[in-house]
Amino acid sequence: MSGVSLQFPVTHTTQSHLSAVDWENLPFGKIFADHMFVMEYANGEWQQGEILPFGPIDMHPAMSAIHYGQSIFEGMKAYRNEANEVVLFRPELNARRFSESAARMCMPEIPEELFLEAVKQLVATDAAWVTNKPGYALYIRPFMFATDEFVGIKPSDTYKFVIINSPVGAYYAEPVRVKIEEHYTRAAVGGVGRAKAAGNYGASLYPAKLAQQQGFHQLVWTDAKTHTFIEESRTMNIVFVIDNKIITPTEEADTILRGTTKKTVLELARHWGIPVEERPVTVAEIIEAAKSGKLQDAFGAGTAATIAPIALIGYRDEKIALPALETRTISLRIKEHLDGVKSGAIEDTMHWVQKVC
Ligand SMILES: *Cc1c(COP(=O)(O)O)cnc(C)c1O
Repeated sequence: MSGVSLQFPVTHTTQSHLSAVDWENLPFGKIFADHMFVMEYANGEWQQGEILPFGPIDMHPAMSAIHYGQSIFEGMKAYRNEANEVVLFRPELNARRFSESAARMCMPEIPEELFLEAVKQLVATDAAWVTNKPGYALYIRPFMFATDEFVGIKPSDTYKFVIINSPVGAYYAEPVRVKIEEHYTRAAVGGVGRAKAAGNYGASLYPAKLAQQQGFHQLVWTDAKTHTFIEESRTMNIVFVIDNKIITPTEEADTILRGTTKKTVLELARHWGIPVEERPVTVAEIIEAAKSGKLQDAFGAGTAATIAPIALIGYRDEKIALPALETRTISLRIKEHLDGVKSGAIEDTMHWVQKVC
């Protein structure tokens, strides 16, 4: 990184399309803000990054990422708070995870400060795209892919790191119906489940499609070897409440993505004195608790939705409905608190929020 400046040059768009956005009918992830960040890796180091007008990226047909999948991403959000500032939520955790994903995929790491400055300066450039409408945010998608023009399997020598922004509304309109998956696998011990690697998501589409044909929104993944332990759900970690205790699968094995949202949920619960158990969670105990009415709550935790309540669990031939949403006091309280910290209505005593501009 010799001679690389962390003050990235900006080429402003001459044609903002912000005024054309239909905020009342905003599809998730299809509208993009005016600018993007681009930085190349070559000759063993990151080159000078820059902010450019959003637009297509040139691609050679032999570009190694599309053949062999050296491709990783992150997902984070910028919010506009009550003081009219644009803020990020624990972005340093995304920076760290991006480097961990890169290391697993044999890709070059990005220094945390460089990642954070790139995100912040891009979001500042697109700050007009961060609305203060409740539930809305600017979804930030940093990603990196291999760019060697070579049809041979080896770690690429060149990479591109790009960040794009997409304005989004609330992610889930309704509580989700999930199916416990006992055949297909998201991640095996020793695999890449802990990395936000593109191929993990491609591999999940077919089993997810089968579940959707059966009337579910998404899957709950179980361990690859025995399919008796619960892991996570789509792009969210999974959390249960039984006997007023928060129970969630341990992330010790390398099969579960280490989410910022779940980490935050657990820290908050512990701070409030709510008992938390991070341990292997069996399918059998969750089904048993759901049937006997002891399962008070089950929800997905992830940046897209923050808290996505589960309405129904499908297990083999059974469909078990979960308690009404208004009874789920713990997750409601957590969601309200996190929304409040992001909006500035609640004091950020844990120092989770970073100001962009
Ligand atoms: C991104 C992701 C999560 C959630 O992570 P957050 O940092 O909370 O957004 C959980 N599981 C998977 C598989 C993911 O890709």
